[in-house]
Amino acid sequence: MDKKIPVAILGATGSVGQKFIELLKDHPWFEIAALCASERSAGKPYHEAANWFQASELPKHIGEMIVQPCEPSVPGRIVFSGLDSSVAGEIEQAMAKAGKIVVSNSKNHRMHDDVPLLVPEINADHLALLKKQAFGDGMIVTNPNCSTIGLVLALKPLVDAFGVREVSVVTMQALSGAGYPGVASLDIIDNAVPYIGGEEDKIETEPLKIFGDLINDHVEPAVMNISASCNRIAVVDGHMECVSVRLGRQASAKEIIEAWEDYRAEPQEMGLPTAPGRPVHYHREEHYPQPRKHRMLDKGMAVSIGRLRECSILEWKFTLLSHNTIRGAAGGALLNAELMVEMGLV
Ligand code: NAP
Repeated sequence: MDKKIPVAILGATGSVGQKFIELLKDHPWFEIAALCASERSAGKPYHEAANWFQASELPKHIGEMIVQPCEPSVPGRIVFSGLDSSVAGEIEQAMAKAGKIVVSNSKNHRMHDDVPLLVPEINADHLALLKKQAFGDGMIVTNPNCSTIGLVLALKPLVDAFGVREVSVVTMQALSGAGYPGVASLDIIDNAVPYIGGEEDKIETEPLKIFGDLINDHVEPAVMNISASCNRIAVVDGHMECVSVRLGRQASAKEIIEAWEDYRAEPQEMGLPTAPGRPVHYHREEHYPQPRKHRMLDKGMAVSIGRLRECSILEWKFTLLSHNTIRGAAGGALLNAELMVEMGLV
């Protein structure tokens, strides 16, 4: 690419917004043209507006950028959104109306009939929905919920090889998933919270759209019974999920592990910059995967799976781990945008 594509980050001061900055600061195709947030932050240099809590250093030139309000006139052909869902709906639509390509992490447009709920390894064909989108000259593409992404990447090789009929999933979700400043320390230290508002419904419904078939520019939802229970735990990054599945046909442990290990898709074939070398890694050590050890595997873009064993209620059970603000948010959104560039949509 001769010239980098200018991009804006909406919600740049938040948990997802900060991860966008980390991943975009040396991106080969995109360059940050604007950092946007609420009126509380607008007008201030970024280093004053944001409480930078990433482990990496905030680049000086980014820290000095002045935060802008989320107005459609902001520079940037692509707009990455990490906005709070209470405001994302209206702002993202205004951006699309003004011709921007909006790639969003917020829930607001995910289940809209004409909006792709995109995981590039799984449903790149759903980008065909953009043809009938009527948000104006621009478009809106969404990322699934951060726990949904790990789950569907682990299920996809099983869906392809054997079919998946029923799924029971119990999550243990990281604190960064609650945004910044998130859960009060006195609520979570020495504790676990067995409730995350709205999360179970998202995990039970979003996979059906993602695995749905594109028929005449419409997504026909997949048939799969999913039950989710979500918990918040005292880990900074990385969502773990204990999953039980009933497959469409009998399979051995060897066949299941092979399906995961052999799995590659368009992002790997295209060599997209943010694509993991392998979307799914299977660990044979019985005490893996673990958040601290495995969340950064393959640039934080791969799902780690372990502990495949028989389940006496459904057929098989296993544990997975994926990085919620990278694969589950900012990294996933970058991969969506890279796929759109590669497909000539930008
Ligand atoms: P967050 O840390 O609370 O950040 C929210 C951002 O929205 C901040 O930059 C905030 O700016 C901005 N904002 C709030 N009110 C605004 C307004 N009225 N106008 C303009 N900007 C406003 O939340 P987050 O965890 O980054 O999540 C962002 C979105 O991504 C949410 O929709 C969330 O559900 C979704 N998501 C999060 C994760 C995750 O792991 N964290 C994963 C997947 C999806 P100020 O600082 O100026 O208030």
